[in-house]
Amino acid sequence: MILGGTAEARQLASILTTAGHDVVSSLAGRVHNPFLPPGRVRVGGFGGVDGLISYLRTSGISTVVDATHPFAVQMSSHAAAAADLTGIPLVRLERPGWSNHSRADSWSWVPDAAAARAAAERASRPFLTSGRQSLQAFQSWVDRPVLARVVDRPEIPLPPNWTLLTSRGPYSYAGERQIMIDHSIDLLITKDSGGSYTAAKLDAAHDLDIEVVIIARPTRPKTARVENIEQAMAWLRRSDEATMPRTS
Ligand code: NAP
Repeated sequence: MILGGTAEARQLASILTTAGHDVVSSLAGRVHNPFLPPGRVRVGGFGGVDGLISYLRTSGISTVVDATHPFAVQMSSHAAAAADLTGIPLVRLERPGWSNHSRADSWSWVPDAAAARAAAERASRPFLTSGRQSLQAFQSWVDRPVLARVVDRPEIPLPPNWTLLTSRGPYSYAGERQIMIDHSIDLLITKDSGGSYTAAKLDAAHDLDIEVVIIARPTRPKTARVENIEQAMAWLRRSDEATMPRTS
């Protein structure tokens, strides 16, 4: 089973199903019209660790790849607990963050959305790209024209002078630069999602002399970890060999 919701999860599902493996991808069901991975898909929460364990057992899952987003830490904690309790092998597939980005030292790194808001208080026209679930932390910014970009419309009401963009990556450098110019952006708020899909905004901000406030990744449970699809495939092959019954 692949715990998904990311491009890497879809790519891995595609490779494994093409190779003839029986894969089920699990999605939380948050996004209105998700990109579906090939192969079997189940949607919705499991009902905590107990529900996940029950699903793993009744569905005969042999291995779990946790390829959820770097900020989906609750799902990862549940997967780690379920793996400990059932002995089912688990690997975490997580793309590297942007801490080694050539501009990383010039950004203000903060631990969460509340700290991002405090660090960005001086912004007069902020560009908020830290995701729908973080919007609440900024909701009381009624005094400035915030540009907020999310995949799906938030359920919470936003102040009337905010502009909401609904879209999903990948985004180009030219497009990001134009958005920042069109909206006279003076500060970018993002989280350390990593990867290339949403990285162009960081270069555009740098070239336009726009400050960046970045929310660092949350602490994760300790599990086996890989950073890309090739490493995940190698880990799965090793795990398969280790659990295969031996004849001699
Ligand atoms: P989260 O806070 O870690 O998880 C909250 C609960 O949602 C989990 O306890 C679980 O419910 C359910 N859940 C999460 N991922 C699931 C999955 N792949 N399959 C089945 N149930 C799942 O997760 P989140 O941050 O809300 O993210 C939800 C989904 O969106 C994830 O699949 C993630 O990969 C994707 N995503 C998240 C972000 C982000 O910034 N957080 C960005 C892009 C994509 P139960 O306890 O009932 O099992």
